[in-house]
Amino acid sequence: MRRIQHFIDGQHTAGSSGRVSDVYDPATGKVQAQVDLASVSEVNQVVASATKAAIGWSESSLTQRTQIMFRFRELLAARTDELAKVISSEHGKVVSDAAGEVARGLENVEFACGIAHHLKGEINEQVSDGIEVYSLRQPLGVVAGITPFNFPAMVPAWMFATAIACGNAFICKPSERDPSAAMLIAEWLIEAGLPPGVFSVLNGDKEAVDALIDHEDVAAISFVGSTPVASYVYERATNAGKRVQALGGAKNHMLVLPDADIDMAADAAVSAAYGSAGERCMAVSALVAVGSVADELVQAIANRIPAVKIGPGNEPEAEMGPLITQEHRDRVAGYVERAQEAGAVAVVDGAVADLPSDGFFYGPTLLDEVTSDMECYQDEIFGPVLSVVRVETFREAIDLINSNPFGNGTAIFTRDGGAARQFQHEVQVGMVGINVPIPVPVAYHSFGGWKASLFGDTHMYGPEGVRFYTRAKAITARWPDPASSQVDLGFPQNQ
Ligand code: NAD
Repeated sequence: MRRIQHFIDGQHTAGSSGRVSDVYDPATGKVQAQVDLASVSEVNQVVASATKAAIGWSESSLTQRTQIMFRFRELLAARTDELAKVISSEHGKVVSDAAGEVARGLENVEFACGIAHHLKGEINEQVSDGIEVYSLRQPLGVVAGITPFNFPAMVPAWMFATAIACGNAFICKPSERDPSAAMLIAEWLIEAGLPPGVFSVLNGDKEAVDALIDHEDVAAISFVGSTPVASYVYERATNAGKRVQALGGAKNHMLVLPDADIDMAADAAVSAAYGSAGERCMAVSALVAVGSVADELVQAIANRIPAVKIGPGNEPEAEMGPLITQEHRDRVAGYVERAQEAGAVAVVDGAVADLPSDGFFYGPTLLDEVTSDMECYQDEIFGPVLSVVRVETFREAIDLINSNPFGNGTAIFTRDGGAARQFQHEVQVGMVGINVPIPVPVAYHSFGGWKASLFGDTHMYGPEGVRFYTRAKAITARWPDPASSQVDLGFPQNQ
Protein backbone atom coordinates (compact mmCIF):
# COMPACT_ATOMS: atom_id res chain seq x y z
CA MET A 1 0.00 0.00 0.00
CA ARG A 2 1.36 3.44 -0.98
CA ARG A 3 2.22 5.55 2.07
CA ILE A 4 1.93 9.34 2.05
CA GLN A 5 4.27 10.81 4.65
CA HIS A 6 4.97 14.36 5.81
CA PHE A 7 7.22 16.87 4.01
CA ILE A 8 9.62 18.33 6.55
CA ASP A 9 12.95 20.11 5.97
CA GLY A 10 12.69 19.68 2.23
CA GLN A 11 12.08 15.95 2.21
CA HIS A 12 9.47 13.25 2.59
CA THR A 13 9.56 12.27 6.24
CA ALA A 14 7.95 9.20 7.76
CA GLY A 15 5.48 9.79 10.56
CA SER A 16 6.29 8.49 14.02
CA SER A 17 2.81 8.46 15.58
CA GLY A 18 1.79 5.06 14.22
CA ARG A 19 -1.56 6.58 13.23
CA VAL A 20 -2.70 6.50 9.61
CA SER A 21 -5.83 7.22 7.59
CA ASP A 22 -7.08 5.62 4.36
CA VAL A 23 -7.07 7.64 1.15
CA TYR A 24 -9.76 6.44 -1.27
CA ASP A 25 -10.23 6.56 -4.99
CA PRO A 26 -13.84 7.85 -4.87
CA ALA A 27 -14.52 6.63 -8.41
CA THR A 28 -13.89 2.98 -7.48
CA GLY A 29 -14.51 3.08 -3.74
CA LYS A 30 -11.17 1.40 -3.11
CA VAL A 31 -8.44 2.46 -0.72
CA GLN A 32 -5.44 3.60 -2.80
CA ALA A 33 -3.01 4.83 -0.13
CA GLN A 34 -2.55 5.50 3.54
CA VAL A 35 -1.51 8.86 4.93
CA ASP A 36 0.42 9.42 8.14
CA LEU A 37 -1.46 11.31 10.85
CA ALA A 38 0.80 13.51 12.93
CA SER A 39 0.82 13.66 16.70
CA VAL A 40 2.45 16.27 18.91
CA SER A 41 6.03 15.08 18.31
CA GLU A 42 5.77 15.51 14.51
CA VAL A 43 4.14 18.91 15.03
CA ASN A 44 7.10 19.93 17.20
CA GLN A 45 9.47 18.60 14.53
CA VAL A 46 7.87 20.54 11.66
CA VAL A 47 7.55 23.77 13.67
CA ALA A 48 11.23 23.54 14.72
CA SER A 49 12.26 23.12 11.08
CA ALA A 50 10.01 25.98 9.94
CA THR A 51 11.20 28.27 12.75
CA LYS A 52 14.81 27.76 11.71
CA ALA A 53 14.00 28.28 8.03
CA ALA A 54 11.93 31.40 8.74
CA ILE A 55 14.96 33.25 10.16
CA GLY A 56 16.97 33.04 6.94
CA TRP A 57 13.95 33.36 4.66
CA SER A 58 12.68 36.57 6.25
CA GLU A 59 16.08 38.11 5.42
CA SER A 60 16.02 36.92 1.79
CA SER A 61 15.85 39.68 -0.77
CA LEU A 62 12.65 40.51 -2.57
CA THR A 63 14.49 39.70 -5.78
CA GLN A 64 15.28 36.20 -4.56
CA ARG A 65 11.69 35.55 -3.44
CA THR A 66 10.32 36.87 -6.71
CA GLN A 67 12.64 34.72 -8.79
CA ILE A 68 11.65 31.57 -6.89
CA MET A 69 7.97 32.40 -7.31
CA PHE A 70 8.43 32.93 -11.04
CA ARG A 71 10.26 29.57 -11.35
CA PHE A 72 7.52 27.83 -9.36
CA ARG A 73 4.88 29.50 -11.52
CA GLU A 74 6.53 28.03 -14.63
CA LEU A 75 6.71 24.53 -13.09
CA LEU A 76 3.10 24.63 -11.96
CA ALA A 77 1.86 25.88 -15.33
CA ALA A 78 3.81 23.19 -17.18
CA ARG A 79 2.61 20.44 -14.83
CA THR A 80 -1.02 21.44 -14.49
CA ASP A 81 -2.22 18.18 -16.06
CA GLU A 82 -0.05 16.05 -13.78
CA LEU A 83 -1.37 17.81 -10.69
CA ALA A 84 -4.95 17.73 -12.00
CA LYS A 85 -4.78 13.94 -12.42
CA VAL A 86 -3.54 13.50 -8.85
CA ILE A 87 -6.32 15.76 -7.52
CA SER A 88 -8.93 13.88 -9.52
CA SER A 89 -7.75 10.47 -8.33
CA GLU A 90 -8.14 11.38 -4.64
CA HIS A 91 -10.96 13.93 -4.73
CA GLY A 92 -13.05 12.47 -7.55
CA LYS A 93 -13.68 15.71 -9.48
CA VAL A 94 -13.16 15.40 -13.24
CA VAL A 95 -9.66 16.17 -14.53
CA SER A 96 -10.77 19.24 -16.52
CA ASP A 97 -12.34 20.71 -13.36
CA ALA A 98 -9.18 19.90 -11.37
CA ALA A 99 -7.12 21.69 -14.05
CA GLY A 100 -9.39 24.70 -13.55
CA GLU A 101 -8.67 24.56 -9.83
CA VAL A 102 -4.92 24.55 -10.54
CA ALA A 103 -5.32 27.49 -12.92
CA ARG A 104 -7.07 29.52 -10.21
CA GLY A 105 -4.34 28.57 -7.72
CA LEU A 106 -1.75 29.64 -10.26
CA GLU A 107 -3.28 33.13 -10.22
CA ASN A 108 -2.30 33.38 -6.56
CA VAL A 109 1.28 32.42 -7.40
CA GLU A 110 1.28 35.09 -10.13
CA PHE A 111 0.03 37.64 -7.59
CA ALA A 112 2.92 36.61 -5.33
CA CYS A 113 5.39 37.16 -8.20
CA GLY A 114 4.62 40.87 -7.77
CA ILE A 115 5.29 40.82 -4.04
CA ALA A 116 7.75 43.73 -4.21
CA HIS A 117 4.89 46.00 -5.26
CA HIS A 118 2.49 44.63 -2.66
CA LEU A 119 4.97 45.20 0.18
CA LYS A 120 5.67 48.84 -0.61
CA GLY A 121 5.30 50.98 2.47
CA GLU A 122 4.30 54.61 2.79
CA ILE A 123 6.26 57.69 3.75
CA ASN A 124 5.54 61.25 4.80
CA GLU A 125 8.40 63.65 4.50
CA GLN A 126 8.83 66.60 6.89
CA VAL A 127 5.98 65.73 9.33
CA SER A 128 7.81 68.07 11.67
CA ASP A 129 11.06 69.88 11.34
CA GLY A 130 13.54 67.40 9.83
CA ILE A 131 11.31 64.42 10.65
CA GLU A 132 10.03 61.67 8.36
CA VAL A 133 7.41 59.02 9.24
CA TYR A 134 7.28 55.85 7.23
CA SER A 135 5.59 52.50 7.55
CA LEU A 136 6.68 49.05 6.42
CA ARG A 137 5.37 45.52 6.70
CA GLN A 138 7.37 42.60 8.08
CA PRO A 139 6.66 38.85 8.06
CA LEU A 140 5.16 37.10 11.09
CA GLY A 141 7.52 34.10 11.22
CA VAL A 142 5.93 30.63 11.10
CA VAL A 143 2.34 30.49 9.86
CA ALA A 144 0.11 27.48 9.32
CA GLY A 145 -2.71 26.73 6.88
CA ILE A 146 -5.37 24.08 7.48
CA THR A 147 -7.20 23.23 4.28
CA PRO A 148 -10.35 21.34 3.18
CA PHE A 149 -10.70 18.37 0.85
CA ASN A 150 -12.63 20.14 -1.86
CA PHE A 151 -9.80 22.24 -3.33
CA PRO A 152 -6.60 20.38 -2.38
CA ALA A 153 -4.36 22.60 -4.55
CA MET A 154 -6.18 25.92 -4.92
CA VAL A 155 -6.96 26.59 -1.26
CA PRO A 156 -3.35 25.89 -0.15
CA ALA A 157 -2.29 28.28 -2.96
CA TRP A 158 -4.65 30.95 -1.58
CA MET A 159 -2.46 30.86 1.50
CA PHE A 160 1.11 29.74 0.87
CA ALA A 161 1.88 31.87 -2.21
CA THR A 162 1.34 35.12 -0.33
CA ALA A 163 2.61 33.84 3.02
CA ILE A 164 5.95 32.72 1.59
CA ALA A 165 6.40 35.72 -0.70
CA CYS A 166 5.90 37.96 2.36
CA GLY A 167 8.86 36.20 4.01
CA ASN A 168 7.15 33.67 6.30
CA ALA A 169 7.68 29.92 6.63
CA PHE A 170 4.41 28.10 5.89
CA ILE A 171 3.17 24.78 7.26
CA CYS A 172 0.33 23.24 5.26
CA LYS A 173 -2.00 20.77 6.99
CA PRO A 174 -4.05 19.45 4.06
CA SER A 175 -7.19 17.39 4.28
CA GLU A 176 -6.35 13.80 5.18
CA ARG A 177 -8.74 12.70 2.43
CA ASP A 178 -6.66 14.07 -0.47
CA PRO A 179 -3.18 15.02 0.74
CA SER A 180 -1.09 14.27 -2.38
CA ALA A 181 -1.55 17.63 -4.15
CA ALA A 182 0.15 19.46 -1.26
CA MET A 183 3.03 16.95 -1.34
CA LEU A 184 3.63 17.58 -5.06
CA ILE A 185 3.53 21.35 -4.48
CA ALA A 186 6.14 20.90 -1.73
CA GLU A 187 8.46 18.99 -4.08
CA TRP A 188 8.07 21.56 -6.86
CA LEU A 189 8.74 24.50 -4.54
CA ILE A 190 12.06 22.88 -3.60
CA GLU A 191 12.80 22.37 -7.30
CA ALA A 192 12.06 26.06 -7.86
CA GLY A 193 14.76 26.93 -5.32
CA LEU A 194 12.79 27.48 -2.11
CA PRO A 195 15.03 26.70 0.89
CA PRO A 196 14.05 23.54 2.84
CA GLY A 197 11.70 24.23 5.75
CA VAL A 198 10.07 27.32 4.23
CA PHE A 199 7.17 25.19 2.98
CA SER A 200 6.28 22.02 4.87
CA VAL A 201 3.40 19.58 4.74
CA LEU A 202 2.16 18.10 7.96
CA ASN A 203 -0.44 15.43 7.39
CA GLY A 204 -2.99 14.75 10.07
CA ASP A 205 -6.37 15.24 11.62
CA LYS A 206 -7.74 17.11 14.66
CA GLU A 207 -4.75 16.07 16.78
CA ALA A 208 -2.31 17.78 14.39
CA VAL A 209 -4.56 20.85 14.05
CA ASP A 210 -4.86 21.28 17.82
CA ALA A 211 -1.11 20.91 18.33
CA LEU A 212 -0.36 23.45 15.58
CA ILE A 213 -2.80 25.93 17.11
CA ASP A 214 -1.36 25.45 20.57
CA HIS A 215 2.30 25.68 19.51
CA GLU A 216 3.76 28.94 20.77
CA ASP A 217 6.05 29.35 17.75
CA VAL A 218 3.17 29.40 15.24
CA ALA A 219 2.18 33.04 14.79
CA ALA A 220 -0.91 32.79 12.62
CA ILE A 221 -3.49 30.27 11.47
CA SER A 222 -5.37 30.31 8.18
CA PHE A 223 -8.24 27.85 8.01
CA VAL A 224 -10.74 26.87 5.33
CA GLY A 225 -13.36 24.20 5.99
CA SER A 226 -16.78 23.66 7.51
CA THR A 227 -18.38 26.26 9.80
CA PRO A 228 -18.33 24.24 13.05
CA VAL A 229 -14.60 23.55 12.68
CA ALA A 230 -13.87 27.11 11.48
CA SER A 231 -15.59 28.47 14.57
CA TYR A 232 -13.70 26.06 16.83
CA VAL A 233 -10.32 26.85 15.21
CA TYR A 234 -11.00 30.59 15.45
CA GLU A 235 -11.84 30.42 19.13
CA ARG A 236 -8.98 28.13 20.11
CA ALA A 237 -6.38 30.02 18.06
CA THR A 238 -7.45 33.49 19.19
CA ASN A 239 -7.41 32.26 22.79
CA ALA A 240 -3.84 31.14 22.11
CA GLY A 241 -3.08 34.73 21.06
CA LYS A 242 -2.74 34.06 17.35
CA ARG A 243 -3.82 35.97 14.31
CA VAL A 244 -6.58 33.91 12.66
CA GLN A 245 -8.64 33.88 9.50
CA ALA A 246 -11.10 30.95 9.44
CA LEU A 247 -13.36 30.53 6.44
CA GLY A 248 -16.39 28.31 6.93
CA GLY A 249 -19.25 26.75 5.01
CA ALA A 250 -21.91 28.26 2.82
CA LYS A 251 -25.44 28.24 1.47
CA ASN A 252 -25.21 30.21 -1.74
CA HIS A 253 -28.38 31.61 -3.27
CA MET A 254 -28.92 32.36 -6.93
CA LEU A 255 -31.74 34.85 -7.38
CA VAL A 256 -33.54 34.86 -10.73
CA LEU A 257 -35.84 37.73 -11.66
CA PRO A 258 -38.67 37.35 -14.20
CA ASP A 259 -36.80 39.45 -16.77
CA ALA A 260 -33.71 37.19 -16.77
CA ASP A 261 -32.61 35.26 -19.84
CA ILE A 262 -34.01 31.83 -18.90
CA ASP A 263 -31.53 29.79 -20.93
CA MET A 264 -28.58 31.69 -19.52
CA ALA A 265 -29.91 31.33 -15.96
CA ALA A 266 -30.62 27.61 -16.40
CA ASP A 267 -27.14 26.96 -17.85
CA ALA A 268 -25.61 28.87 -14.95
CA ALA A 269 -27.70 27.03 -12.34
CA VAL A 270 -26.77 23.60 -13.70
CA SER A 271 -23.07 24.50 -13.91
CA ALA A 272 -22.93 26.08 -10.46
CA ALA A 273 -25.04 23.48 -8.66
CA TYR A 274 -23.63 20.29 -10.11
CA GLY A 275 -20.03 21.17 -11.07
CA SER A 276 -17.62 19.24 -8.85
CA ALA A 277 -20.73 17.35 -7.64
CA GLY A 278 -21.71 20.41 -5.61
CA GLU A 279 -18.62 20.09 -3.41
CA ARG A 280 -17.65 23.74 -3.81
CA CYS A 281 -17.95 26.37 -1.13
CA MET A 282 -19.25 28.71 -3.86
CA ALA A 283 -21.66 26.17 -5.38
CA VAL A 284 -25.20 27.40 -5.85
CA SER A 285 -27.45 25.32 -3.60
CA ALA A 286 -30.56 27.49 -3.29
CA LEU A 287 -32.28 28.94 -6.33
CA VAL A 288 -34.66 31.77 -5.47
CA ALA A 289 -37.18 32.12 -8.27
CA VAL A 290 -39.14 35.36 -8.19
CA GLY A 291 -42.74 35.39 -9.40
CA SER A 292 -43.61 34.02 -12.82
CA VAL A 293 -40.09 32.82 -13.67
CA ALA A 294 -40.27 29.67 -11.52
CA ASP A 295 -42.15 27.16 -13.71
CA GLU A 296 -40.17 27.88 -16.85
CA LEU A 297 -36.86 27.96 -15.03
CA VAL A 298 -37.42 24.68 -13.17
CA GLN A 299 -38.37 23.02 -16.45
CA ALA A 300 -35.30 24.44 -18.24
CA ILE A 301 -33.01 23.10 -15.49
CA ALA A 302 -34.73 19.72 -15.44
CA ASN A 303 -34.32 19.47 -19.23
CA ARG A 304 -30.59 20.00 -18.94
CA ILE A 305 -29.85 17.49 -16.16
CA PRO A 306 -30.03 14.28 -18.24
CA ALA A 307 -27.25 15.66 -20.46
CA VAL A 308 -24.80 15.95 -17.53
CA LYS A 309 -22.24 13.17 -18.11
CA ILE A 310 -21.46 11.39 -14.86
CA GLY A 311 -18.40 9.18 -14.57
CA PRO A 312 -14.96 8.64 -13.08
CA GLY A 313 -12.90 11.82 -13.05
CA ASN A 314 -10.29 10.42 -15.42
CA GLU A 315 -12.83 9.68 -18.17
CA PRO A 316 -12.31 12.49 -20.69
CA GLU A 317 -16.00 12.99 -21.46
CA ALA A 318 -17.15 12.93 -17.80
CA GLU A 319 -18.43 16.26 -16.45
CA MET A 320 -19.36 15.25 -12.90
CA GLY A 321 -17.52 12.75 -10.71
CA PRO A 322 -18.33 10.99 -7.44
CA LEU A 323 -18.57 12.43 -3.94
CA ILE A 324 -15.61 12.26 -1.59
CA THR A 325 -16.63 9.28 0.61
CA GLN A 326 -19.40 6.70 0.90
CA GLU A 327 -20.40 8.28 4.19
CA HIS A 328 -20.82 11.68 2.53
CA ARG A 329 -22.73 10.16 -0.39
CA ASP A 330 -25.17 8.56 2.08
CA ARG A 331 -25.48 11.83 3.98
CA VAL A 332 -26.50 13.63 0.76
CA ALA A 333 -29.00 10.86 -0.06
CA GLY A 334 -30.47 11.22 3.45
CA TYR A 335 -31.04 14.95 2.93
CA VAL A 336 -32.91 14.29 -0.33
CA GLU A 337 -35.11 11.61 1.27
CA ARG A 338 -36.01 13.77 4.24
CA ALA A 339 -36.66 16.80 1.99
CA GLN A 340 -39.35 14.84 0.16
CA GLU A 341 -40.86 13.70 3.46
CA ALA A 342 -41.00 17.37 4.48
CA GLY A 343 -42.91 18.33 1.33
CA ALA A 344 -40.26 19.20 -1.27
CA VAL A 345 -40.87 17.90 -4.77
CA ALA A 346 -38.00 15.94 -6.35
CA VAL A 347 -38.28 17.06 -9.97
CA VAL A 348 -35.07 15.10 -10.58
CA ASP A 349 -33.94 12.56 -7.96
CA GLY A 350 -30.23 11.71 -7.95
CA ALA A 351 -30.88 8.46 -6.11
CA VAL A 352 -32.48 6.93 -9.20
CA ALA A 353 -29.99 8.29 -11.75
CA ASP A 354 -28.08 5.99 -14.07
CA LEU A 355 -24.75 5.86 -12.23
CA PRO A 356 -21.51 3.84 -12.38
CA SER A 357 -21.89 0.74 -10.22
CA ASP A 358 -18.75 1.33 -8.11
CA GLY A 359 -17.63 4.43 -6.27
CA PHE A 360 -19.40 7.14 -4.33
CA PHE A 361 -21.67 8.51 -7.05
CA TYR A 362 -24.90 10.42 -6.57
CA GLY A 363 -26.85 12.03 -9.40
CA PRO A 364 -27.82 15.68 -9.85
CA THR A 365 -30.96 16.41 -7.85
CA LEU A 366 -33.50 19.19 -8.31
CA LEU A 367 -35.88 19.88 -5.41
CA ASP A 368 -38.79 22.23 -6.01
CA GLU A 369 -41.28 23.79 -3.56
CA VAL A 370 -38.58 24.04 -0.88
CA THR A 371 -39.37 26.35 2.04
CA SER A 372 -36.98 28.09 4.38
CA ASP A 373 -37.97 25.95 7.38
CA MET A 374 -36.83 22.73 5.68
CA GLU A 375 -33.57 21.04 6.68
CA CYS A 376 -32.48 20.78 3.02
CA TYR A 377 -32.63 24.58 2.81
CA GLN A 378 -31.06 25.32 6.17
CA ASP A 379 -28.05 22.98 6.06
CA GLU A 380 -25.07 23.01 3.75
CA ILE A 381 -25.56 19.68 1.94
CA PHE A 382 -22.31 19.92 -0.06
CA GLY A 383 -23.57 17.64 -2.80
CA PRO A 384 -25.30 17.89 -6.21
CA VAL A 385 -28.61 19.08 -4.80
CA LEU A 386 -30.32 22.28 -5.93
CA SER A 387 -33.28 23.52 -3.88
CA VAL A 388 -35.75 25.86 -5.54
CA VAL A 389 -37.46 28.35 -3.24
CA ARG A 390 -40.34 30.23 -4.86
CA VAL A 391 -41.03 33.79 -3.69
CA GLU A 392 -43.44 36.45 -4.92
CA THR A 393 -41.28 39.58 -4.84
CA PHE A 394 -37.73 40.84 -5.19
CA ARG A 395 -37.95 42.23 -1.63
CA GLU A 396 -38.88 38.80 -0.28
CA ALA A 397 -35.92 37.29 -2.13
CA ILE A 398 -33.40 39.73 -0.64
CA ASP A 399 -34.88 39.28 2.85
CA LEU A 400 -34.65 35.49 2.51
CA ILE A 401 -30.97 35.65 1.57
CA ASN A 402 -30.20 38.15 4.31
CA SER A 403 -31.86 36.05 6.98
CA ASN A 404 -29.70 33.03 6.13
CA PRO A 405 -26.87 32.55 8.64
CA PHE A 406 -24.28 32.02 5.87
CA GLY A 407 -22.95 34.81 3.67
CA ASN A 408 -20.31 33.37 1.37
CA GLY A 409 -21.44 33.91 -2.23
CA THR A 410 -24.61 34.87 -4.08
CA ALA A 411 -25.69 35.76 -7.59
CA ILE A 412 -28.50 37.63 -9.30
CA PHE A 413 -29.71 36.94 -12.83
CA THR A 414 -31.55 39.85 -14.42
CA ARG A 415 -31.45 42.33 -17.29
CA ASP A 416 -32.41 45.15 -14.92
CA GLY A 417 -29.39 47.23 -13.93
CA GLY A 418 -31.27 49.02 -11.17
CA ALA A 419 -32.33 45.76 -9.55
CA ALA A 420 -28.79 44.40 -9.79
CA ARG A 421 -27.44 47.53 -8.17
CA GLN A 422 -29.97 47.38 -5.34
CA PHE A 423 -29.08 43.71 -4.83
CA GLN A 424 -25.32 44.32 -4.65
CA HIS A 425 -25.93 47.16 -2.21
CA GLU A 426 -28.36 45.43 0.15
CA VAL A 427 -27.33 41.81 0.15
CA GLN A 428 -25.40 40.71 3.23
CA VAL A 429 -23.00 38.38 1.49
CA GLY A 430 -19.25 38.72 0.95
CA MET A 431 -19.03 37.84 -2.76
CA VAL A 432 -21.71 38.83 -5.25
CA GLY A 433 -22.19 37.81 -8.89
CA ILE A 434 -24.28 39.76 -11.39
CA ASN A 435 -25.19 37.27 -14.10
CA VAL A 436 -22.09 35.37 -12.87
CA PRO A 437 -23.01 32.26 -10.87
CA ILE A 438 -19.71 31.54 -9.06
CA PRO A 439 -18.16 34.92 -8.26
CA VAL A 440 -14.77 33.81 -6.91
CA PRO A 441 -12.69 37.00 -7.01
CA VAL A 442 -9.48 37.05 -9.04
CA ALA A 443 -6.21 36.84 -7.08
CA TYR A 444 -5.63 40.60 -6.91
CA HIS A 445 -8.89 41.06 -5.03
CA SER A 446 -9.56 39.05 -1.86
CA PHE A 447 -11.83 36.09 -1.09
CA GLY A 448 -14.11 35.95 1.90
CA GLY A 449 -17.68 35.55 3.02
CA TRP A 450 -19.67 37.26 5.75
CA LYS A 451 -21.50 35.96 8.83
CA ALA A 452 -21.04 32.22 9.53
CA SER A 453 -18.88 31.87 6.41
CA LEU A 454 -15.88 33.68 7.90
CA PHE A 455 -14.47 34.09 11.39
CA GLY A 456 -11.84 36.79 11.64
CA ASP A 457 -11.21 40.20 10.16
CA THR A 458 -9.26 39.60 6.99
CA HIS A 459 -10.35 37.88 3.82
CA MET A 460 -8.00 35.49 2.11
CA TYR A 461 -5.34 36.16 -0.57
CA GLY A 462 -4.88 39.37 -2.56
CA PRO A 463 -4.32 42.66 -0.68
CA GLU A 464 -5.96 41.32 2.51
CA GLY A 465 -3.72 38.25 2.37
CA VAL A 466 -0.65 40.50 2.35
CA ARG A 467 -1.97 42.33 5.40
CA PHE A 468 -2.76 39.06 7.17
CA TYR A 469 0.72 37.61 6.66
CA THR A 470 2.63 40.75 7.65
CA ARG A 471 2.58 43.21 10.50
CA ALA A 472 3.03 46.92 10.20
CA LYS A 473 5.82 48.94 11.70
CA ALA A 474 5.77 52.74 11.74
CA ILE A 475 9.09 54.57 11.99
CA THR A 476 9.62 58.18 12.98
CA ALA A 477 13.08 59.35 11.97
CA ARG A 478 15.00 62.54 12.51
CA TRP A 479 18.37 63.45 11.10
CA PRO A 480 18.88 66.73 12.87
CA ASP A 481 21.67 69.16 12.96
CA PRO A 482 23.62 68.05 16.09
CA ALA A 483 23.95 71.72 17.01
CA SER A 484 20.18 71.96 17.69
CA SER A 485 20.03 68.97 20.08
CA GLN A 486 18.65 69.63 23.60
CA VAL A 487 16.86 67.81 26.46
CA ASP A 488 13.03 68.22 26.35
CA LEU A 489 10.86 66.14 28.73
CA GLY A 490 7.58 67.23 27.10
CA PHE A 491 5.47 64.89 24.96
CA PRO A 492 6.64 64.97 21.30
CA GLN A 493 4.69 67.64 19.40
CA ASN A 494 4.75 68.57 15.77
CA GLN A 495 5.92 72.01 14.92
P1 NAD B 1 -13.70 20.10 7.46
O1 NAD B 1 -14.09 21.23 8.31
O2 NAD B 1 -14.20 18.74 7.81
O3 NAD B 1 -12.10 19.96 7.41
C1 NAD B 1 -11.27 21.06 7.09
C2 NAD B 1 -9.91 20.85 7.73
O4 NAD B 1 -10.07 20.82 9.15
C3 NAD B 1 -9.23 19.53 7.35
O5 NAD B 1 -7.86 19.78 7.17
C4 NAD B 1 -9.50 18.63 8.53
O6 NAD B 1 -8.47 17.69 8.73
C5 NAD B 1 -9.56 19.60 9.69
N1 NAD B 1 -10.51 19.18 10.75
C6 NAD B 1 -11.65 18.45 10.58
N2 NAD B 1 -12.28 18.30 11.75
C7 NAD B 1 -11.54 18.95 12.68
C8 NAD B 1 -11.68 19.16 14.09
N3 NAD B 1 -12.72 18.67 14.76
N4 NAD B 1 -10.73 19.87 14.71
C9 NAD B 1 -9.69 20.38 14.05
N5 NAD B 1 -9.49 20.21 12.72
C10 NAD B 1 -10.41 19.51 12.04
O7 NAD B 1 -14.10 20.48 5.95
P2 NAD B 1 -14.04 19.57 4.64
O8 NAD B 1 -15.12 18.55 4.70
O9 NAD B 1 -12.65 19.13 4.38
O10 NAD B 1 -14.38 20.67 3.53
C11 NAD B 1 -15.68 21.03 3.17
C12 NAD B 1 -16.13 22.28 3.91
O11 NAD B 1 -15.23 23.35 3.64
C13 NAD B 1 -17.48 22.79 3.44
O12 NAD B 1 -18.22 23.20 4.56
C14 NAD B 1 -17.15 23.96 2.56
O13 NAD B 1 -18.15 24.95 2.43
C15 NAD B 1 -15.97 24.51 3.25
N6 NAD B 1 -15.17 25.34 2.37
C16 NAD B 1 -15.24 26.69 2.56
C17 NAD B 1 -14.53 27.53 1.71
C18 NAD B 1 -14.59 29.00 1.88
O14 NAD B 1 -13.83 29.67 1.24
N7 NAD B 1 -15.44 29.54 2.74
C19 NAD B 1 -13.72 26.97 0.71
C20 NAD B 1 -13.67 25.60 0.56
C21 NAD B 1 -14.39 24.79 1.42
